[in-house]
Amino acid sequence: MRSITSLDELRSSRLSLDGTVGLAPTMGFLHEGHLSLIRRARDECDHVVVSIFVNPTQFGANEDLSKYPRDIERDLKLIEPLTDLVWMPTAEIMYPQGYQTWVEVEAIASPLEGTMRPGHFKGVTTVVAKLFNGVQPHKAYFGQKDAQQAAVIRQMVRDLNFPIEIVVCPIVREADGLAMSSRNVYLDPEQRKAATGLFRSLSAAKDLYENGERNAEKIRRKMKDVLADEPLAKVQYVSCADYDTLEELDAINGKALLSMAVFIGKTRLIDNFVLG
Ligand code: AMP
Repeated sequence: MRSITSLDELRSSRLSLDGTVGLAPTMGFLHEGHLSLIRRARDECDHVVVSIFVNPTQFGANEDLSKYPRDIERDLKLIEPLTDLVWMPTAEIMYPQGYQTWVEVEAIASPLEGTMRPGHFKGVTTVVAKLFNGVQPHKAYFGQKDAQQAAVIRQMVRDLNFPIEIVVCPIVREADGLAMSSRNVYLDPEQRKAATGLFRSLSAAKDLYENGERNAEKIRRKMKDVLADEPLAKVQYVSCADYDTLEELDAINGKALLSMAVFIGKTRLIDNFVLG
């Protein structure tokens, strides 16, 4: 595995890779969720590139950029057997003095996370476009954990004609259902227990759906009720939306996305299930 930082190194290393290239973009502090993307890329492509970059432009002013967990040595050990090239650019490389170009997706980036985290997706799509231009992968791997992010990136790839196939991989969970996340490390033991409320809430809503309920408001109510039983959980949003447009539904007729953002203490967790 070659570790590189600069754009010049990236260009020359990329030229030496013959055949298909798969990219897994990450912010580091890797866990089994990230590794599932990298393994899938390993299975499907001749070469695997991993990027590790805590992208400052996707964090809001009051978010956790400065304390975002990092452990590069551990990350490198984890990915070494699976990866040809790891690109770890600095913020100065990605956003040099005088930087002024942004990529912004409109409607699909505006509800849910887009409403709660203004500017977040503008940062995500800009950095992912830059990662795509640098690495020039044939396929890029994202997690269903960030369902709206995957939808926004698919839209960007369609709209800007990136010749890249977007592969979305299933959510990897802990044994008790909590979706793996780098941010789970912020949780103390009591909060860690409370964090299973997200999975329980989504599971209860799914049970309701499987028993025939199609009223989206009743499904959202069920998710809120389960979360309300968890005193440490402060709900930011729960949603039952059309899978393709992410618009809130009245009735579930086709594929739907159940999603939520919940604060456990100061830690903001997101999770989702797909119905239908
Ligand atoms: P991050 O480092 O949090 O930016 O995540 C990098 C990529 O890993 C994103 O495409 C995430 O959706 C994906 N990812 C994060 N957690 C999980 C998980 N538990 N299961 C599957 N994919 C994940």
